[in-house]
Parts: sequence; structure tokens; C-alpha cells
Amino acid sequence: MIKINENFLKLQASYLFSNIAKRVNAYQSANPDQEIIRLGIGDVTRALPQACISAFHTAIDEMAGDATFRGYGPEQGYDFLREKIAQHDFRNRGADVADDEIFVSDGAKCDTGNIQEIFATDIRVAIPDPVYPVYLDTNVMAGRTGTYDNGRYQGVTYLDCNRDNDYVPQLPSEPVDLIYLCFPNNPTGATIAHDQLKAWIDYARANKALILYDAAYEAFVRDNDLPRSIYEVEGAREVAIEFRSFSKTAGFTGTRCAYTVVPKTCTAYTASGDPIEVYDLWNRRHTTKFNSVSYPVQRAAEAVYSTEGQAQVKELTDYYLANAAYIRKAVQSLGFDCVGGENSPYIWIDGQRDSWEFFDLLLNESGVVCTPGAGFGRCGEGYIRISAFNSFENVQKAMDRIQTALG
Ligand code: PLP
Repeated sequence: MIKINENFLKLQASYLFSNIAKRVNAYQSANPDQEIIRLGIGDVTRALPQACISAFHTAIDEMAGDATFRGYGPEQGYDFLREKIAQHDFRNRGADVADDEIFVSDGAKCDTGNIQEIFATDIRVAIPDPVYPVYLDTNVMAGRTGTYDNGRYQGVTYLDCNRDNDYVPQLPSEPVDLIYLCFPNNPTGATIAHDQLKAWIDYARANKALILYDAAYEAFVRDNDLPRSIYEVEGAREVAIEFRSFSKTAGFTGTRCAYTVVPKTCTAYTASGDPIEVYDLWNRRHTTKFNSVSYPVQRAAEAVYSTEGQAQVKELTDYYLANAAYIRKAVQSLGFDCVGGENSPYIWIDGQRDSWEFFDLLLNESGVVCTPGAGFGRCGEGYIRISAFNSFENVQKAMDRIQTALG
């Protein structure tokens, strides 16, 4: 008899986006002439940078000739891309990362979801609340949690992020082994300072723990005092893996390219306490289960690091950041407390009422779709997330409507 992995039965159905869709459809049926503005989903709206498109076309043409055609590439990614990433994203900023510590992939979603399988199932995992749900659900699937009870899984150390701690989690009061951190954060848009990150690194070093640092929104950081990579902070190479993505940086959500940095100096332990290089485990896992990203996509990603590519990516992220600033100002002028939107495309707003009630209010009174914070965890209750991924015209229109409705 074929048996299932019963951990999957513990998973909570994600009603968030289907519930949003249901409410939006009902509103649209009742108001067929009203144009709905979607500031909910975290997908980008603007085209790929021209430098990426040109490189993409050139690479496709190479695939059309027998002499230049490429079949399977190295599982970890082509050297031309790994070198550019390590140089531009890390070494140019003083972070010590070698070319071969870069693992190119088709998404930070897969990488942040897959990485946990190289660790034991009886470790203690610390996960922020609110959170990008992938970290939590993949640990549930792997059997690292108990059942779901009163909005939380048993056996997980939740790291509350709220106004009291400026949405940056405090060190846990119980020992943990694997720690998920994400900055700039989805959903809150909060950022982390050097000394706060250093405290987590020191904790991990003292406790033989490992940090999984999701920096998918790094390209939105403009404040030069903020770390863009965890490896800019002393000691991180021993205890941190970092995830990056071209999705939000360069509009690759539909093109798919990302990477994970696994320093050769990161150590995990056998049950008897023998040290093992995490690098070797991830390399083994990655080369066994993944055949890398297509050649044209890697060439398109490489073009991000050209002079034109850098300028175009800056223009792209500046555009969304201008939207974010506009949203932030508008909601603050209405008297709402918010975080994010300064070095991040997300604005996290304290609605001072139930998340879904606030969602309905914005939809019904202004035809604007946001994301209810409760969908990201218990600490998200009372909040909504507004995303800056839309045209500036739509953002202006949405904020005007909200100001008229609530002002
Ligand atoms: N990490 C975070 C925090 C995200 O918000 C997202 C996407 O929304 C991802 C990772 C996934 O990125 P990718 O498109 O590279 O899979």
C-alpha cells in the first residue's frame, strides 16, 4: 500500500490569495464599471531591462547554430555568471565570497524551500512572524513541527516582529539551530542594521546554529548604512547562507533566475558532533536534483552586471521605490502608522482593526486591493501589506481614492 507523507496533512490550506480573489470578484460583479487597482500581489509589473533583453536575444541566436549551441551546463551555473555575481554583489562591497560559493538556480522560492532538507529533522527551527510562508511550510512538510494549534505549529520557535521591536526579531529565549531571517522583509518592508545582524551572527556562532538569510529585496536598499548582504557583517561566513534573486531586482519573476551563497566555511554537525561542511552537502543535493538554469536566462542575468544593466536596474528599482514613497506618505497623512517603503517595495500598515475588515474597507470604498497581514502569521493580524509593484499612475490613483474614502 502506498502511504503518504502525513506531515502534508498538517499544512494549513492557504486561503489567502483565493479569499482575496473571491472578494475581488464579488466586488467587481457588484461594481462592473469600477476599475480595480491591485496593490496586493508581490509581482513586478515593468518589462525586463533592455540590456537583459539584448543578451537574451543574442544567446537565443547562439542556440540556433550547431557551432554555438549549448546543451546541459554546469549544475551550479556558468562561470561567466558566478564570477560577475561574486565580484559585483559581494567583493566590490567588501564581502568575502568566492565565485564557486555561488549556486545559480531558478528561484529563491525553491532554494529557501529546498535548503532545509540537508539538515536533520529533529533540529529546532526559528521562524519570524509575520513571514514569507515558504520557510514555515517546507519545515512542516519535512516533519520538523507538530500539529497546527491556535494559529501556530507546535515545535516551532516563532520570532515575533511587531512595533515594539521595530519589526526586527529579538534573539530567542530558547536554544534554536536553524534561523530564518529576511531583510528587507516581506511582508513588513523592515530593514536590519549591522549591529542587529551582528547580534544574530554572534548568537549563531555561540550556539552552533545556522542562519538562512533571504535577501531577495536587497536591490531596494538605498541607505548606505544598511547591510546589503549578511557577509558584510563580521563572522557571517561561518554561520550564514544567503539567498538572492533576480526576480525583484531585474523583473525576472517570469524569467526565473536566482542564486544561493554557501560559504565553504559554514559548518553543521553529525549527531555525534563531527563537523561537516554545509557546502559539500548543498553541492551534492544541488547537482543531484537540479540541472541549472537555461543558458539564455543566465546570459540575461549576466547582463544585469554590465554598465547599462546596472543603470537600468537602478532605474527600475528607483521607479518602484518612488511608488513606495508615495504610498507611505499618503497612508501616514491619513494618520496610519507604517513601516517599510523606504528601502523596500512593501509598506506594512497598522490598520488598527481586523486585517480582513481593513482589506474590505479599501476594496469596497476605493476599489483598491491590498494583502491582509493576517495571511502572513499571527503577528500580521491588524495589518495590511501594500505593494509598490504597479505603475506610478495607478499608485497615485489608488492613493487618491483611499484618501477620499478614508480622509
Ligand atoms: N523570498 C522572498 C522573501 C520573496 O518575497 C519571494 C517572492 O516573492 C521569493 C523569495 C521568491 O523569489 P523567486 O522569484 O526568486 O522564487
